Amino acid sequence: MAPLIELRGVTKTYFVGGGRLDVLKGIDLSVDEGDFVAIMGPSGSGKSTLTQILGLLDRPTSGSYKLMGLDVSSLSDDEGAALRSRTIGFVFQMFNLLARTSAQDNVALPMLYTGDPGREKRSAEVLAEVGLSDRMDHAPNQLSGGQQQRVAIARALVNRPKIIFADEPTGNLASEQAEEILHKLSDLNNSGITVLMVTHEPDIAAYAQRVIRIKDGRVVSDERNAAPRGGAGRNRTKAGSGATASVPAVRDLSLEELLEHVRSALRAIRANKLRSALSMLGILIGVTAVIAMLAIGKGAQKSVETQLSSLGSNLVMLFPMSPRMGGGGARSALGSFSRLSMEDAAAIRRAHPGIARAAGEVQGSVQAVYGDKNSNTSLTGAEPEYADMRNAQAYYGRFFTHEENDRMDRVALLGPTVVTNLFGESDPVGRTVNVDHIKFKVIGVLPRKGSSGFQDQDDKIVIPLKTAMKRVLGRQFLGTIAIETTGPDQTEDVMAAVRALMRKRHRLPDYKEDDFTLRNMAEIQAALTGTSKIFSLLLGIVAAISLIVGGIGIMNIMLVSVSERTREIGLRKAIGATRRAVLIQFLIEAAAMSTCGGLLGIALGMSIAFGMSYFAGWAAIVTPQSVLLAFFFSAGTGVVFGFWPARKASLLSPIEALRYE
Ligand code: ADP
Ligand code: MG
Repeated sequence: MAPLIELRGVTKTYFVGGGRLDVLKGIDLSVDEGDFVAIMGPSGSGKSTLTQILGLLDRPTSGSYKLMGLDVSSLSDDEGAALRSRTIGFVFQMFNLLARTSAQDNVALPMLYTGDPGREKRSAEVLAEVGLSDRMDHAPNQLSGGQQQRVAIARALVNRPKIIFADEPTGNLASEQAEEILHKLSDLNNSGITVLMVTHEPDIAAYAQRVIRIKDGRVVSDERNAAPRGGAGRNRTKAGSGATASVPAVRDLSLEELLEHVRSALRAIRANKLRSALSMLGILIGVTAVIAMLAIGKGAQKSVETQLSSLGSNLVMLFPMSPRMGGGGARSALGSFSRLSMEDAAAIRRAHPGIARAAGEVQGSVQAVYGDKNSNTSLTGAEPEYADMRNAQAYYGRFFTHEENDRMDRVALLGPTVVTNLFGESDPVGRTVNVDHIKFKVIGVLPRKGSSGFQDQDDKIVIPLKTAMKRVLGRQFLGTIAIETTGPDQTEDVMAAVRALMRKRHRLPDYKEDDFTLRNMAEIQAALTGTSKIFSLLLGIVAAISLIVGGIGIMNIMLVSVSERTREIGLRKAIGATRRAVLIQFLIEAAAMSTCGGLLGIALGMSIAFGMSYFAGWAAIVTPQSVLLAFFFSAGTGVVFGFWPARKASLLSPIEALRYE
């Protein structure tokens, strides 16, 4: 029958600051299943080093180690972790329980890494076994030293190990509590578990059946007090060490493990509220800016679309200024510049067969008064064609006629906003309003175009063109001529014809540039999309910078967190966490932090967007896509920037971590 543990010529050498330190100098040792072994020796003799090698936490410098007949030097780190989690339980002098974590969760932790079901039931069971059923919800700082060590023993037992390594388990306890722990270890041995205990107190060693003394890295004595109780006496070896262990399979990550990592990440964030909040700030500000800017950008785009649709299709607009002046507003046309006249409009109608109609317009701002209500609004003088060309048929009432225009009648159509401002809920049609002190009869209400971005499309009055020019605004010239083509395929020819005609009518010699601007809808649209492309680019840059800044904040705090929690990482590894499990734990923590920042940013950004539209009247539209985008980008930032710290954590060797102060 192969022994449970078999060491041959095991050495361990540390190289410190150029010197070498031979801690173990050739240890031969075999331990049968069911034994209770005390390892004794002076401080610094290598007891802990030996225990760590036996417990697969460390590898020997030379020599061979067979555990249940399996040569462990052939195992990878993660295979070692898997084997450790199934066969070995540890009890440390320092207890090494996770702070702020209940006794039950501490005990259940190793099962997380084996993926065994029934964690709650099993952890309650082993806690009952160590007599702590009534302390399951206590955190370590709510337990006495002896109780903490009993929790640690329960944790070592939870995966039904074959061997328990206890490195000075009573070193930090008062004698009474120490006795309790030793009794517990004896009981476990009686139930068949092999126990290896490091101690330097002879009366404690008396609990063991076999005492091995080490001095200067060598075994100096090996005495047996009694036959192994647990093993031979009960004849449980058949299924035990007699069988050779196989190389353990490294398990896939389970959903339960992921959820547990999320829970522990949130716990860690809550434990350091201020620090976490400050680290999230970068992401939060970035996401806020992106959400708010996207919403405003989207609102602006929507308002541009509204404006475009209110212009109607197949339109070409003629403005009285050179393209070099920039902009398209008719109002900036100065007196010395070209002028568009009614005659120009009439001539354009006949310029090309592809022209369906052409109509002049003037714009101005006026004050409209009804009763004690008044409203500053914009005035458009238009010809009756305006209704069809600009999708502005009277929603209620009627549009004016050519006769009314020619007679310069004082009739008006009001936009919905003006109606609300002046009439509230009552019917405006048939009433008389004062427009710049001139009485107008309301004959209709314009269709609702929607409030768009920086300008309310519905805050306007439309009156006949000639009335506007002669009676209200006192103008001789048109602000714009709108030309409708018979179809989109005509646009190019029509523009060429109109340009030629206008150059002729304005008597422009060949060497002079146009003194007017012609724009078709495609060009207007292109100009607007061009602007929104620049806007998107800027937005992208802002987002990228803020996510980088935010990511660095997260990376920084994760590095701090990893070095702060070196002991915890070491412990997790000792109880069976693989590299990947530790990597994922810290990645999740980083992602959780950045996602929290992202979510707060989304909330804040949305409030800003809604605030803007509520108080400043800007159109701001928060789309579900932008929220999703912000969410995934912030989570992604955590993963990307958390990767390095998480990898650092995953590469920590368990003993270095456990020795870390
Ligand atoms: P014991 O548990 O018997 O008191 P240890 O096994 O902890 O002793 O340590 C044995 C010797 O090895 C000590 O002299 C210690 O300083 C040294 N040692 C332990 N770990 C390291 C390490 N990581 N690097 C260098 N020296 C170490
Ligand atoms: Mg020690």
